[in-house]
Amino acid sequence: MRYFIDVILPIPLQKLFTYQITEAEAEFLKPGIRVAVPFGKTKIYTGLVFRIHNQAPTAYDAKEIHQILDDIPIVNQTQIELWQWISSYYMCTLGDVMRAALPSAFILESETVITKSNVEAIDESILKDDEFLIYEALHHQSSLKIHDISSILDKKNVLPVIKRLIEKEAITVEEEVYEKYKPKLVRYVKLHANFSSEHALQSLLEKLNRAPKQRDVVMTLFSISATTKKPVKVKDLTTESGASSQIVKSLIDKGVLEEYFIQTDRVQYEGEDNEASKQLNEHQEIALKEVQTSFETNNVTLLHGVTSSGKTEIYVKLIEEVLNSGKQVLYLLPEIALTTQLVTRLQNYFGEQVAIFHSKYSVHERVEVWNNVLSSSAKAKIVLGARSSIFLPFNNLGLIIVDEEHEQSFKQFDPAPRYHARDTAVVIAAMHKAKVLLGSATPSLESYFNAKQGKYGFVELMHRHNNVLMPDIELVDIKDKHKRKRMTGHFSDRLIEEITEVLEEGKQVILFQNRRGFSPIVECNTCGHSPQCPNCDVSLTYHQYRSQLRCHYCGYVAAMPQSCEACGSTDLDTKGFGTEQIEEEVKQLFPKANVARMDLDTTRGKYGYEKIITALEQQEIDILVGTQMLTKGLDFRNVKLVGIMNADNMLNFPDFRAHERSFQLMVQVSGRAGRTDERGKVLIQTYNPFHNILQQVSTNSYVEMFKEQMDDRYNFKYPPIYKQIKITLKHKDYNRTETASIWFAKSLRQFFGDAVLGPEAPPVARIRNQYHKNILVKIPKKQSLAKTKEAIIKINNSFSSIKDFRSVKVILNVDNF
Ligand code: ADP
Ligand code: ZN
Ligand code: ZN
Repeated sequence: MRYFIDVILPIPLQKLFTYQITEAEAEFLKPGIRVAVPFGKTKIYTGLVFRIHNQAPTAYDAKEIHQILDDIPIVNQTQIELWQWISSYYMCTLGDVMRAALPSAFILESETVITKSNVEAIDESILKDDEFLIYEALHHQSSLKIHDISSILDKKNVLPVIKRLIEKEAITVEEEVYEKYKPKLVRYVKLHANFSSEHALQSLLEKLNRAPKQRDVVMTLFSISATTKKPVKVKDLTTESGASSQIVKSLIDKGVLEEYFIQTDRVQYEGEDNEASKQLNEHQEIALKEVQTSFETNNVTLLHGVTSSGKTEIYVKLIEEVLNSGKQVLYLLPEIALTTQLVTRLQNYFGEQVAIFHSKYSVHERVEVWNNVLSSSAKAKIVLGARSSIFLPFNNLGLIIVDEEHEQSFKQFDPAPRYHARDTAVVIAAMHKAKVLLGSATPSLESYFNAKQGKYGFVELMHRHNNVLMPDIELVDIKDKHKRKRMTGHFSDRLIEEITEVLEEGKQVILFQNRRGFSPIVECNTCGHSPQCPNCDVSLTYHQYRSQLRCHYCGYVAAMPQSCEACGSTDLDTKGFGTEQIEEEVKQLFPKANVARMDLDTTRGKYGYEKIITALEQQEIDILVGTQMLTKGLDFRNVKLVGIMNADNMLNFPDFRAHERSFQLMVQVSGRAGRTDERGKVLIQTYNPFHNILQQVSTNSYVEMFKEQMDDRYNFKYPPIYKQIKITLKHKDYNRTETASIWFAKSLRQFFGDAVLGPEAPPVARIRNQYHKNILVKIPKKQSLAKTKEAIIKINNSFSSIKDFRSVKVILNVDNF
């Protein structure tokens, strides 16, 4: 009998690959174990065992595997089922899912290793200088890697040298698989075994009388181990004794102390004891009961709770309950909200049981969380994470909370799998028989619709904690203000008055502008030319701080020109405005205030965001100018005024969700005002104060907004009434993109008729030198989604068999955002 395995490889292959294994291997292997396998002529990949069987592949001879990498599965059966669901629902390969799901440290890489050739000795005179350096190095070291060679030669591109050396038979090259993840080791010390007897110890201490510092260290070691009864870290020893690490080292060298290493978890919680959860207020109490009752009959429940109603406290009660039953909890948040206050809040309640899974963490930290979840460790009972944490190896999940469920960042845009973490969470929960709570002050139309249809349970919490009033929202007509000359830069007289008053009271202000940079367009007053990105069809944004023009799509940067590149005129003007310009104006208007800015440009790096949040909390900032980053679940006690600089560009954004999003964004930023005792104030500047969305924001009328937007979605056949799949074609040649997309759309129309829209160029039709065309397929609820996808896949297969189209990239985006 012959044995085979089907393996998922972390590359976008349509099919799984089959390898041959021995009987012993077949007995050992299980789905979810990693194996190193050869692929193509020279490559080695990490694959994941999917299935073990006895059928030889018919199309090719199965190769043997290189080695088995795990003792036990690192991916469990539920996860493999989930991967299959994602791959079929979101129309991508299992390899795509594997790449997204596993921390990159789990996907071994093949790396080239260079060794001396077997040829006895070569004529060294044929070697050029750089070649000789490498050849000689190999006499001292048995093997070198590419980066070693780079550092020996002090240059990046060493491949030509390696190639020449191979040709001259001086070296050989082999591929080696290595494990990238190395657990961090912590250094510990103990007294050397030689001194374990009373007698030996006595004479040691006598000897050390002449070296008081060393004696101190030894005595401290005793006292630490006596009190903690645990291994002693070198770090603790030096801190406690006040001795330098040099002294510890000399004791080790002398053989008095012995050092050893223990693998440790990088992500550690170093907090006080846990705090008791808060007593719920009467409204929260009712809402909690309703959620619990709803869970008796619904797997998914939507909690619509206004900003500052204390949704988190309800989550905490539910989490306590699930933990008591011994199950795991997944708490999903938008990426950006993760870096802040909520983490501390949950750690205060649940201490070490909280694990955080975050893209700003290193791969090592992520591997540790993975392993803790896999082993159901007490350190990962609650995982607080962004969208990719749905891939963690839970085995006993009781509850998933999706906080800020309306956030679009839950949908992965690029690369595949283009999954929605909220929707995927619902599927995972069903696999675990767990419950899902979706929470938001501004639910997505999708979730609210599902709740209204009875598909989800529904609970409302309409009172702010402490009965603080909802903020008072005022719309400021800036068209009128301009006419009457009541504007200073981008500030209306009303906004200036309110800021002045709030600053006098010692309270803080948040100003919201959803564009970063100084201004999005530079324009020549003489000829009308404005500088464009050479790689994309967009105007470059002016960043005054560095005097640069930047493309926000591809990252292109150029110095701000002194004169127009078209006509040479020096009369250049800027149009539109971003956060940088607001920051500058506000500094001029309020020279005594401390002003800070929070946008992508000021929050790069691991703690960039936290620093600004902390400064605001500690009231080192009077006025904070920022983009939508400001909206994400922040809780500031002292912010009394929120100013929205311009509501119109959000409302006019060309997307069928623009109105829904504008409503969510404005209500969320407004919710940052007056969260404690005093009523907050919000000023929204607009050219169009009678816009329905603005009226609905100012009266906090979610339901009205929902009804009106749903009418549009019915009329124009948009989600959530219809499902949709967006197909994007990309190519560097405009004409080819055009012909290819016309072909694709025509084929789709043969199946779906009028339900196909496009091809259409998106608002930015060229990005990174690739032309884009979009085609939209609208799918009525009664039409089979599976059949629809089958048809699309069929068309896509015929498409890629056409020679001219092979180089055109096709992106399938199910439930696109
Ligand atoms: P939401 O997420 O609904 O906007 P939060 O959960 O952040 O609201 O709560 C708003 C503020 O009110 C927080 O500072 C929170 O600590 C406080 N709070 C909410 N409920 C209670 C309660 N029952 N007891 C004490 N403080 C509460
Ligand atoms: Zn010009
Ligand atoms: Zn660009």
